[in-house]
Amino acid sequence: MTHMDIQFQNPDLTSAKIMMVDDEPINMEVVQALLEEAGYHNFVLEEQSLRAMETLENEQPDMLILDLMMPEKDGFQLLMEIRSHERYQHLPVIILTSASDNESKLRVLELGATDLLAKPVDPTELKLRVYNTLSSKSYLDQLAYYDPVTQLPNSRMFQEHFEWVLRKSRRHEDRLAILNISLDDFGRVNAAMGHEAGDHVLQQAAEVIREVVRASDIVASVGRTGNRNANLYRSENGAFMLLLERIQRPEDAALVAERILAAMNRPIETMETEVYMTCSIGIVTYPEEGDDANTLVRLANTARDYVKTKGGNAFQFSSSVIDMSYRNRLSMEARLRKALEREEFKLYYQPKIDVVSGRICGAEALLRWFNGDQGMISPLEFIPVAEETGLIIPIGKWVLNTTCEQLKRWCAICNNEISLSANVSARQFQDEHFIADVRNIVSATGIVPGQLTLEITESLLMQDISQNIVLMNQLKAMGLKLSIDDFGTGYSSLAYLKNLPIDELKIDRSFIMDVPQKEDSCAIVSAIIYLAKKLRFHTVAEGIETREQVEYLRRERCEQYQGFFFSKPVPASDMTRLLLNERSLAGNTP
Ligand code: C2E
Ligand code: MG
Ligand code: MG
Repeated sequence: MTHMDIQFQNPDLTSAKIMMVDDEPINMEVVQALLEEAGYHNFVLEEQSLRAMETLENEQPDMLILDLMMPEKDGFQLLMEIRSHERYQHLPVIILTSASDNESKLRVLELGATDLLAKPVDPTELKLRVYNTLSSKSYLDQLAYYDPVTQLPNSRMFQEHFEWVLRKSRRHEDRLAILNISLDDFGRVNAAMGHEAGDHVLQQAAEVIREVVRASDIVASVGRTGNRNANLYRSENGAFMLLLERIQRPEDAALVAERILAAMNRPIETMETEVYMTCSIGIVTYPEEGDDANTLVRLANTARDYVKTKGGNAFQFSSSVIDMSYRNRLSMEARLRKALEREEFKLYYQPKIDVVSGRICGAEALLRWFNGDQGMISPLEFIPVAEETGLIIPIGKWVLNTTCEQLKRWCAICNNEISLSANVSARQFQDEHFIADVRNIVSATGIVPGQLTLEITESLLMQDISQNIVLMNQLKAMGLKLSIDDFGTGYSSLAYLKNLPIDELKIDRSFIMDVPQKEDSCAIVSAIIYLAKKLRFHTVAEGIETREQVEYLRRERCEQYQGFFFSKPVPASDMTRLLLNERSLAGNTP
């Protein structure tokens, strides 16, 4: 009864889920075989009465056939628990009993049994009782739990179901969203065209929403069981509640809302005229915006009302923070799509310094985005959006290509004594064309592969380590160098570390920050350097800001560093000056 596809007009009783609890499996098998003759096919058998309540929660049967005499927990006890459980107090329970004493019979009836059957069961009697029980339940459910206009489950069903879904989400740490969808000016349709037209509009609107949900990949793809994870309910007047379970991000709820708004944007034919309906949608997500059922429902309502005061035909998250971040993200996505062709990206370069000689031995290319009046946007802000949308693939190609071209130019002024690093995101790694793209760029620009290092952050590397090792070996075979970025933050397993085909470890800035003042940070940094040396990896320290840090690194025999102490990331022209400057200095010293 929890699914929106149950129809009132033709309740298909044979698909009802029938649960049995009996310590003797053979009894249950007999009953099942008899009921199968009558067309029933959906059974749950439980022989452990101690586990029965849990099974009940998980399976949500439409009725229960319960044995009375069981060890550990008997039928009386179980029945009592069921009747005091807020969700199952009305569940039909047929008691199977061999007890001929009237006292037991009386007692189970007092405890709220729906019906009694004597063992051994008479086949005809069994089928009749089960049929009667189910059909009266179905009728009562329909009255109590379904809206007669749209055939959708009603708000009472929503309330009960939602509590349960919320508990489940808590247990599995799932995210969910409620969309409160209310037709704008629904009262006007009722008043102007009458209730019959109003009902028709409601039915059509319900159909439109269902259609969107059905076609929605976000909702369908994450579901473990069909579309059970999206349920539509009719709530008050011209409003619906859409419950989306197990969504991945709040944005997924927004996407569904957007599609509903778009789908509503066509005329509904009723009473030989066309009406145009719009709706207002309030969204609340768990766990971001609230924790308990009442709060969540209230917040979704308030968000919807807010949309109405703004003129309707829109959606709004309950939390203004989430709403803002969603809208910022959307607009960033739109601007990001145009950034490449508008040539808004630039590479900055941060010198890598040899700790011993203090000379520049290379540089890391760091992406910058200059977007109109927004000015420069940090990669920390736009790289995640580029990754999610897949835009990182063309952007990443541009980064690699530009880095290689720059490398050629600097090789000419540095006698080839320079190497460059570029950052690569996991999403690029997963792209099937990545290896071929890199190969093309390397050969088209004619660089020496050994002078290019690809940096991969540790956390991303570890996500699919065995597949990544395969790819890394292919890159190594091309002659490229590989580096693990932000090392120390990504929980590398040491067992893997020794098998990684890498050349360099970059120690994350968070450890360097407190060096040399804090003992524990020093301990970590020196352990990483020691480990790297044993595994024959080069070591680079990120984020060096003070002379004391450089001296510490020298003592610990770290090989290279990057950081504001020497230089911030700078445009290519500034980097060229730094390189030329150094060469002329070197030329001047005998
Ligand atoms: P990352 O690769 O670890 O780069 C180092 C970051 O630390 C850079 O930030 C750099 O500006 C900053 N930094 C360097 N020295 C210092 C210092 O002394 N003090 C402080 N406080 N910060 C320092 P940025 O340029 O904002 O880049 C942030 C992250 O964005 C990079 O971290 C990298 O993961 C990512 N990123 C940058 N460019 C690209 C790119 O082309 N592709 C990809 N996939 N990711 C990129
Ligand atoms: Mg890096
Ligand atoms: Mg880093």
